[in-house]
Parts: sequence; structure tokens; C-alpha cells
Amino acid sequence: MKYIVVTGGVISGLGKGITTSSIGKLLQARGLKVTAIKIDPYLNYDAGTMNPYQHGEVFVLEDGGEVDLDLGNYERFLDTNLTFDHNITTGKVYLTVIERERKGEYLGKTVQIIPHITEEIKRRIKKIALETMADVVLVEIGGTVGDIESMPFLEAVRQLRREEGERNVLFVHTTLVPSLDVVGEQKTKPTQHSVKELRSLGIQPDIIVGRSKQPLKEDTKRKISLFCDVPYEAVISAPDARSIYEVPLIFEEQRLGDYILGRMQLWGEKPDWKDWKRFLKNLYNPEYEVRVGIVGKYVHLKDSYISHREAFTHVAAKLKTKIDLKWVDSETLEEKGTDVLENVDAILIPGGFGRRGTEGKILAAQYARENKIPFLGVCFGFQMAVIEFARNVLGYEDAHSTELSKTDHPVIDLLPEQRGIDKLGGTMRLGAQKVLIERGSMAYKIYRSEVIYERHRHRYEVNPDYIDQFEKAGLHFSGKDESGTRMEIFELKDHPFYMGSQFHPEYKSRPLNPSPLHLALIKAALKTKKS
Ligand code: GLN
Repeated sequence: MKYIVVTGGVISGLGKGITTSSIGKLLQARGLKVTAIKIDPYLNYDAGTMNPYQHGEVFVLEDGGEVDLDLGNYERFLDTNLTFDHNITTGKVYLTVIERERKGEYLGKTVQIIPHITEEIKRRIKKIALETMADVVLVEIGGTVGDIESMPFLEAVRQLRREEGERNVLFVHTTLVPSLDVVGEQKTKPTQHSVKELRSLGIQPDIIVGRSKQPLKEDTKRKISLFCDVPYEAVISAPDARSIYEVPLIFEEQRLGDYILGRMQLWGEKPDWKDWKRFLKNLYNPEYEVRVGIVGKYVHLKDSYISHREAFTHVAAKLKTKIDLKWVDSETLEEKGTDVLENVDAILIPGGFGRRGTEGKILAAQYARENKIPFLGVCFGFQMAVIEFARNVLGYEDAHSTELSKTDHPVIDLLPEQRGIDKLGGTMRLGAQKVLIERGSMAYKIYRSEVIYERHRHRYEVNPDYIDQFEKAGLHFSGKDESGTRMEIFELKDHPFYMGSQFHPEYKSRPLNPSPLHLALIKAALKTKKS
């Protein structure tokens, strides 16, 4: 088993996840089987209960795991499906150890961070290696070296190197190399300090990835090499890139893939970047342009909707279209009206929770419906469009979701199995679920299949009591679950493109295989767009 551990220094938000994903891509391009683990040193058990405004989007896996958004990056770069176990948190580790202690499994011993917590961390990492049979397991440690929370994890990977051997565990350290604007001189001191910190924990990095505005100068690389004691070839430049998907190629140019193979004594094929390069070429040379309004509550932190953003990037390359995303705060829309949507060619309402800003979303759905603007509602957005239709077409003025308000017309209501649940963590309808699509429908044209699996994360759904009325008025449910009682997709008659899905198609979008619904939305926008 081989492991590559990625740590970060100086500041957070350096793009360690992209570095990890890109290294994975280099190895995968050489025919190796790779997988990735994200370690999050926070005490939460999982990301499910975390506010997207603080931590960015909660990513959902096939198995229903609610995880850190970096797993989304791994899945997109490596075109693979991961499982909940690929996100290790302090919460998961401690819970296991404490439960074991309560069962008396430590036989009276004093339970300690070393060795008990570190053993549990290593057990979880090795379990993934065994289960996936990957040639290389990437392990990204969240946070920055020096954080109190990450100490046990760094100690665990230090032990891992001792146990598995130098050839089998490689340490990659990502740091910031700032430059002083006036002269553009690149400063290596923060990197030196960060490596010193890492060494004090017993870890000497094998590779240093320097994040900087401009590519690292030769002189800067030499300095880092000398002061941090890594070979010159192992100092890798990671300048700001036009697209995150270019980073693997930037690394490839610096022969990082070959270097890693050499260090780990791995054999690989000659990499073939044809498809990846074509993807970037299309992305960088658009022939068309559309503007999409995304109406949400968390628009001020772009990572809150990262999977939608990426899905649109994938579509952009596929359709050679520049997709300009206009982030619209639903509360602003609520106060100031739909003027902000005037020059958009399509509207998307993403998932969400809670009452704040919902009237703005409902207004946006109405605006799109009445003005025949291509529209996609996802999960909460799907529910908002259903409420809008009930209010303004069926005439139920007080129509609402029981998540948000008491009403005589609960067109969106709690899932039956949710009724007795009082715990909020991990209790929604989660992960990949089977959706049956009606032949001949718009959804069928888009998915070209009668059976699809898409990822879910919800507690509420369309109230079956109202379905007949919706159908009669033209809101057609073309996707349902196997029982036929759960509405999964709607499409509106007499509208160029007005669709919604109870599931989240954005989670499964991949660079070379974009989300079908996002793709269809943009195709419709290109057709209806007033030039
Ligand atoms: N709050 C809604 C529900 O629980 C929608 C959830 C979402 O958009 N992910 O059903």
C-alpha cells in the first residue's frame, strides 16, 4: 500500500484540495488506481450539520454521506465515486474510541491520544487502502500545520510512514509564497517557517508545492530547496490558474508525476491528456455566451454552491459557451423585486433550508414561469417552484411548505418517515435513490433513460394530495420514485424550459460528463436567448 499525505501551511484556503486532486489525476493518467481521503480535524461528526456559510457546501455522496466539499473535487477530478468513510473527522475518530472504551474493550487501560486515537486514525486510513485496493491513497489533512486540532492526525501519519516505510508514504506540503507587489519578489520565509513547524512534529516533507500569484522563479525554487531540504525537482510551482482543471497540467509540465513514481518505485504508463486538454481548450475558447441568475441565500460565499458552479463549468466546455453566473441574494430580490433578473438568460434556484429569503425565491420562480425564461429548481428550488405554482396558478394564496409555515395548503410536506425523528444529523433522505422517468417526457429526452440514480438530501416533498390538481393545471411530474408517490421531477407544459428536481444533479456532474439537467438548461437558454 502506498500513501501520499498532503498538508498545508501558512494560511488556509490555499487550494490543498485542488493540489490533492491534481496529484491524483497525474497518477491516474499513468494508469494507476487512486483514491482520496479527506481528514477534517473539527469535532463535528460530519459536515451535514454545518452551515454552508461557514464551511461551504455540504457535499453528498452516493451512499448518503454528507461530507466536506473537497470530496466533490476528488470525485470530479478523478471521475470516481467515494464513500462516507473517505471523510475522516475528529468527531468520527473520538466517537469510535469512546464507544469502545464504554464497552470495556480497552481492558482497563488508560485511553490516550497516543496510541489509541492515533491507532484509530491509522486504522481508518488503512481500511480505505484495503477496501479500494488502490495503488495509491491520497490523504489530505485539513487545516494548517500548527493547529491544535490537527496534531493527532499529523502524529498518526508520522507513525504511518515509520510503519509502512519511506518508499510507501510520501509527504507533500502546500504553502503560500507571497510576493511583494512593488518588485514582485517572492518570499520564501513563510514556507521555511511552516516546514520548520512540520519538522518539529517529526515530518520532513518530500515535496513542496508553492502557491503563488506568478510561477515560482528558479531562484525561489532553489531557495526553498536549500532551506527546506527538498530536492530542486521536488519544489513545485502552483501559480494562480485560469481554471482549477488546468492544475494537473501545470504539475505535469514540472514532471511531478514522474518524480512521484520514481520516489515511490511505481511503474506507470505514458500519460494521455488528450480529453482533458480538449476540455480546457473548449472552456477557454467559447463561441457563445449566456447569463445565468442563481438565486440563493448563501450567494456571498461562492463555495456554498460550488457543485453548481462546477457543473456549469463542465457544461461550458461541452457547449463551448461562456456561462456568466450572476449571484442573486434572495433577500435582496424579496426587497427590491425582480429587476435584478432582467438580463439573465436562465434562472437556477439551488437547495436550501429555512424561511429567510424564501419569498424572493418564489418570486424568481414566478418571474421565470411568466416570462418564459429557462428555469431549473433544485431540491428547495424545486419545492419553491411548486409553492409558486400552487399560489399563482391553482389559486391557493397561502400555499406553503410545512418546513416554513403553518398553512391550510401544505403543498410541500414532511416525508412520512421523517415524522418521528428528532435528531437532525444524518437523518434526511440521503444519497443516490432510484428515479423512474416517464418515456416521451422532456426528462426522458434529457436523461435518455427510464431509470436514473441521483443524489438526494431532503426531509420534505410534494404532498401527494395535490398531485392531480398540479397535473391538470399543466405542471407535470415526469420523474417519480419506485412507489410512484414521491415526486422527483416536474416539467411545465407551454414553456421553453421550466423544470425542477427533488434531487441534486449537481453532485454527479463531471468535467467530461456534465449534469444532464444543467446541460439542458443552458441549451434552452442558448435557444431562447434574446441576443
Ligand atoms: N429544506 C428542504 C427539505 O428538507 C430542501 C433541502 C435541500 O434543498 N437540500 O426538504
